Amino acid sequence: MPPLPDDPIDALLTAHGLRRTQTARRVLGWLLAHSDTSYTHAQLQLALQDDTAQGLDRVTLYRLIDRLTQVGLLLCRVDANRVRRYQAMPASVHATPHFECQTCHRDSPLAGALQANSRDLERAAQTAIEALKALGYKGLSMDVAVRGVCLDCATDATSATSATSATVAAA
Ligand SMILES: [Zn+2]
Repeated sequence: MPPLPDDPIDALLTAHGLRRTQTARRVLGWLLAHSDTSYTHAQLQLALQDDTAQGLDRVTLYRLIDRLTQVGLLLCRVDANRVRRYQAMPASVHATPHFECQTCHRDSPLAGALQANSRDLERAAQTAIEALKALGYKGLSMDVAVRGVCLDCATDATSATSATSATVAAA
């Protein structure tokens, strides 16, 4: 049995050819700990600056996020307001149909009554990926997402109506 790396974050960075800097560990570690939510650059900087007395350099953070995205450790998506949001790349996001709330930016699997449709969608996505793979396409991933406002956010009184209309207006 091969020896397991002590730190899974370090192992991920090494496996993707990245240097194990303190910043890289912090950013990736934090995103993996909050892997069901996507964040903008600004939100990440805000979230990570409280960790230590020393704030994160903006340019360093931007470059690091770009790099992590390039190697496939982060998923980059553009939200309804055309703002880029980043999220740790969970295997399930590749093809599992999910719901992306445009207000709290949490992902959740399609639940309940939608589960049967969700399985069909997932199969269709998987079939498409396999077909392209067979043709020699590389680095394939597919994102099957329904976007809107989740129940929690929708019932969250006043902000709900404005958020919904803003989303519709931008789409
Ligand atoms: Zn929400």
